[in-house]
This record gives sequence, structure tokens and C-alpha cells, in this order.
Amino acid sequence: PSAADRLSRLIRDIPDFPQPGVVFKDITPLLASPGGFAEAVNGMVEISPDDIDVVVGMEARGFIFGAPVALALGAGFVPVRKPGKLPGDTLAQSYDLEYGAETLTIHADAIADGARVLVVDDVLATGGTVGATAGLLKQLGAELVAVTVLMELTFLSGRDYLTAQGIDTVNALL
Ligand code: IMP
Repeated sequence: PSAADRLSRLIRDIPDFPQPGVVFKDITPLLASPGGFAEAVNGMVEISPDDIDVVVGMEARGFIFGAPVALALGAGFVPVRKPGKLPGDTLAQSYDLEYGAETLTIHADAIADGARVLVVDDVLATGGTVGATAGLLKQLGAELVAVTVLMELTFLSGRDYLTAQGIDTVNALL
């Protein structure tokens, strides 16, 4: 089987999680597989630009993929977190969910002006999470060069949502 087939088989569908009607892509079997995790990270590195200063990963699964991708690219790693988790001065960006709203935060001094940033997450769904992260980067004056995800749920059109915000370099391994 192809690398994509091997990886896809390590991601399982969980029906009705976190709510009825949603089929959740569970990546934990992939993470638990020594070969699978390495193949996923290597693949994400290969589809990413190599002239990156900082990888930004979003709580929590963006940390798992963002950190090894940053090491492979020779870049630093900066976490984006839910409110109340980062100890220093933060910037915040809110975005709408289907029901309610969510806020993401980043340290106000985390990224130097003009730094070249790659955003990494596990799954791109509606694009709300990546879009809010892009908003944080804009507030910081950082340059969002590209977005790399393990898996894109194409039926949710997150890529189109991001393109409409001027984010057009979205790389998905699966
Ligand atoms: P979005 O903001 O709608 O694009 O959702 C993406 C965020 O929600 C990412 O941080 C993912 O970790 C998480 N997410 C959404 N759907 C799934 C899924 O099916 N499996 C794993 N994570 C998901």
C-alpha cells in the first residue's frame, strides 16, 4: 500500500463524537504506531516550506505534530493555547463555532516582527481554528507562510474559508 493508505488505516472513525451526527477522526492509533507517527511527521515536513523561523501549533494535537516538524525544519516552536493557560502577556482572538464561540491566545512577545511562520495542526475541519491563529499572527506582525495539516476534511471546506481570508498555502498530507 502507499504511504497515504498506510497512514489512513491508522486513523479511525468514531461516530457521534463529540456530539451526535459527527464522525470524529481519531488519530491516536497513528500516534501509537512507531512507524506510523514517524511517517506522518516526515510526510508533513516534506510538504512544508523549509525556510521557516517558527512553527506555531494549536492546543492540543497541534503540539504533537508541530514540535517534531519544528525540529526537523530547524525552526522554533510557539504554542497557541486556550485562555488562561499562558503565563505571560497574551493576545487573544475569538472565532465562532457552530454553537457558541472559542478564543485562542498567544504570548504577545512570542514571535519577532517579520518572522516566517508555519502553522501546524492535526486536522483541518471548518478552518476556524487556523483562521483564528492567523488572526493572532497578524496582530503580532508575523508572516504566515503556510499551513500544514496531517488531514483535511474536504467536505467542510476549510480550505475555501481560509482562501477567503488570503491564506492560500494550505498543505494537507491526507
Ligand atoms: P476547525 O476549527 O473546524 O477547522 O477544526 C479543527 C480543530 O478541531 C483542530 O484543532 C482539530 O484538532 C479539531 N478537530 C476537528 N475535527 C476533528 C476530527 O475529526 N478529528 C480530530 N480533530 C478534529
